[in-house]
Amino acid sequence: MKIAIIGFGAAAIGFIERVKELDHEIHIFEKSKDIYSSSISGIRADGKLFVSKEMGGDLKVDLNLQKKLVDFYINQTKHKQFETGQSFMNKEYYKNFYEKGFQPIVSEFFHIGTEQLKEVLYNIYENFKSKKNIHSHFGHTVSKIEFDADKILIDNSGPFDKVVVAVGRSGHNLVKNIINEFPELIMDNTKVDLGIRLEVPDHIVEELNQEMYEFKIKYKSKTGYMVRTFCNNPSGYVVTENYGDFITVNGHSKLKEKSKNTNLAILTTVQLTQPFNDPVGYGSHIAKLTNILAGKDKVILQTYAHFKKSKRTKNLYRVLPTLEKNSYILGDINLAYPRRIIESIIDFLENLNEVVPGIANDDNLVYAPEIKFYSNRLSNQKVKNIFFIGDCSGETRSIIYATAHGWMMAEKIT
Ligand SMILES: Cc1cc2nc3c(=O)[nH]c(=O)nc-3n(C[C@H](O)[C@H](O)[C@H](O)COP(=O)(O)OP(=O)(O)OC[C@H]3O[C@@H](n4cnc5c(N)ncnc54)[C@H](O)[C@@H]3O)c2cc1C
Repeated sequence: MKIAIIGFGAAAIGFIERVKELDHEIHIFEKSKDIYSSSISGIRADGKLFVSKEMGGDLKVDLNLQKKLVDFYINQTKHKQFETGQSFMNKEYYKNFYEKGFQPIVSEFFHIGTEQLKEVLYNIYENFKSKKNIHSHFGHTVSKIEFDADKILIDNSGPFDKVVVAVGRSGHNLVKNIINEFPELIMDNTKVDLGIRLEVPDHIVEELNQEMYEFKIKYKSKTGYMVRTFCNNPSGYVVTENYGDFITVNGHSKLKEKSKNTNLAILTTVQLTQPFNDPVGYGSHIAKLTNILAGKDKVILQTYAHFKKSKRTKNLYRVLPTLEKNSYILGDINLAYPRRIIESIIDFLENLNEVVPGIANDDNLVYAPEIKFYSNRLSNQKVKNIFFIGDCSGETRSIIYATAHGWMMAEKIT
């Protein structure tokens, strides 16, 4: 069988790892110019690998497979160095959060760190390259998939028997083109996560960071919206992320270089109903509005006290930002965000302060826009011989779930 894989990220790696020894001709089309080029994805920055039944995606992925894939990634590093921890396996912590209305998420994690990821990807690629049946086409942004009877053409190359689309979130243009042709692929598109990134001195969350490194909790706020923590970076750095037509905030941490602050996202899930059908449009407009207020290409930074009172921040006090100075302005996030989102976040933080004293200190830092998009959930049954894996399928949101999706799809279709 001749199979095309579009994108070389976590999902594609899982797929190829599973089929590399089989007798199929595999062609990988990747838009980055080579294996070292960056794209906006956790497989190229940070690299926290989670083993959990409760987070990472909507698929059911066996814990043994998750652990096996974690080992696969760690084995690609030279010195097999990583940070590890367990979230809420300790009953006391679980109970403390649960009593205050939080739903703790149980997971195990392994942090490889930004510095080692290049080596990991390079080693995986070199192994695939050594196989005679695997062909890579870097610097090839696929823009079109065409059907010719039962065969499929990619930008005029092929024909292929099967096409596996593994373009992550950065491949939304290609997915949009495919959906325009086959609207029946869409199963669900109503959700977007809007929120802020909070930055606090390490000592406030030191105990939690030591106990579990990444603490994940969910909370049903008084507004009815679910609020959750995401991407906790002990001694980490806040960075901006460029989506082309707007800028958001994000965070990461390194294995060796450490700051004195911890940052984490606090996200409110907005799930709207008919006639709403454009969560990406909704999220992007709010992000752009925030950028407009911040002056072009910048994000807004505010102290928590001013965020609560809807007042522009003019000075900072004890907590100093890790985000570089040219990337933010001091302002008021309330001018860009809907009231219900702000109220949900404040309710979340005020309650969290009872379990983690100091998390809602007046001079802690709040950055916006922090937005996480969900891809449309796409069907793998509606159009013959074309399959969506990883984040672009709407089924996964993490490295391990995306890799597992690729692995499981390979078992199913080859
Ligand atoms: C900044 C950041 C940090 C993250 N940190 C973590 C983390 O620590 N832990 C975790 O579990 N998850 C993390 N995530 C999420 C995680 O990275 C994704 O869930 C996972 O990488 C999804 O895998 P994927 O294969 O679906 O997509 P990706 O890994 O994004 O791979 C998609 C690939 O397709 C290529 N591509 C896109 N469009 C085209 C096209 N038209 N033609 C050809 N190639 C194309 C891209 O260049 C890319 O290489 C993070 C995400 C981001 C953005």
